[in-house]
Amino acid sequence: MNEQMNEQITQSIDDKIKVLISEKEIEKKIVRLAKEINENYKESLPVIVCVLKGAFIFCSNLVKKLKLPLLEIEFISVSSYGNEFKSSGEVNLTVPLSGAITNKDVLLVEDIVDTGVTAKFLIEYLQKQNPKSIKLASLLCKPQKLQHKINIDYLAFNIEDKFVIGYGLDYLGKYRTLPYIGYIEE
Ligand code: 5GP
Repeated sequence: MNEQMNEQITQSIDDKIKVLISEKEIEKKIVRLAKEINENYKESLPVIVCVLKGAFIFCSNLVKKLKLPLLEIEFISVSSYGNEFKSSGEVNLTVPLSGAITNKDVLLVEDIVDTGVTAKFLIEYLQKQNPKSIKLASLLCKPQKLQHKINIDYLAFNIEDKFVIGYGLDYLGKYRTLPYIGYIEE
């Protein structure tokens, strides 16, 4: 799909974007999750592993609420090939972890668990580096779509099977900066 076609598609959907979860609701939930994380990591600091690009806004707003100033943050990036709405189920690591997580408590931060293929892939990848523990935080989960048993330790919202954008999540690389979670009305 070329740039001009992308522009035409995105312009035609701009006025069809509806709010699914407001900025206020997300922020309230993040405060609640941060409280739990603060409590659970009192004894041992986690290494936060933020999954780019989709989790960048959720992760940054979450870590700002943590009272754990000595924690470390790492970034990792994956891509899954498919069309713009559906992943192919094949995950590729595009940016590997640069720091060491051996013997550390890892908190993996995802934008959305859809089929669970990406989360499963990432947990297996991280496990190979022998961390002390791995926990998962995710902004969203679509429970109806799950193909793998994924335990989300810190989940902000379960949503129905809708393609969502905003708060870090994109459509064709765009709309990540919407301050809410929206969907495109058919
Ligand atoms: P999974 O591997 O769990 O099927 O999908 C995970 C990845 O697919 C997410 O990290 C995200 O990049 C993408 N994804 C799944 N559902 C949605 C959605 O509703 N909206 C957007 N923008 N991306 C999604």
